Amino acid sequence: MIMTVSEEAQELLTTSSVSVLGYTLEEIQEEFHGINGFANAFYSTLEWGIRSAEILKRDSFICRFCGDKYANYVHHIRSLRIFPEICLHPDFLITVCVSCHNHLHRKGAK
Ligand SMILES: [Zn+2]
Ligand SMILES: [Zn+2]
Repeated sequence: MIMTVSEEAQELLTTSSVSVLGYTLEEIQEEFHGINGFANAFYSTLEWGIRSAEILKRDSFICRFCGDKYANYVHHIRSLRIFPEICLHPDFLITVCVSCHNHLHRKGAK
């Protein structure tokens, strides 16, 4: 599978932003999965709700890895923890099924 990434997205990757969702990059690293951590805050934003629905629709609920027709997970192809500044960029989000998603995260691709 070939992933194309737009120039705009590449630029975002190389630009270090000061904060995301009010969290500094340092805070994101420090408390990521905790109750007040960035992951929790991010997945409960309206922006994520809207964007993930758009991605599922864009990919027609088809897993981009195995072709399963009932995929309903949206996966960050660049780690949310390492690249929080691109967390909502469609070029870095793909639809995957639950088993591919589990597999991806077992490999440490969080
Ligand atoms: Zn799959
Ligand atoms: Zn994922």
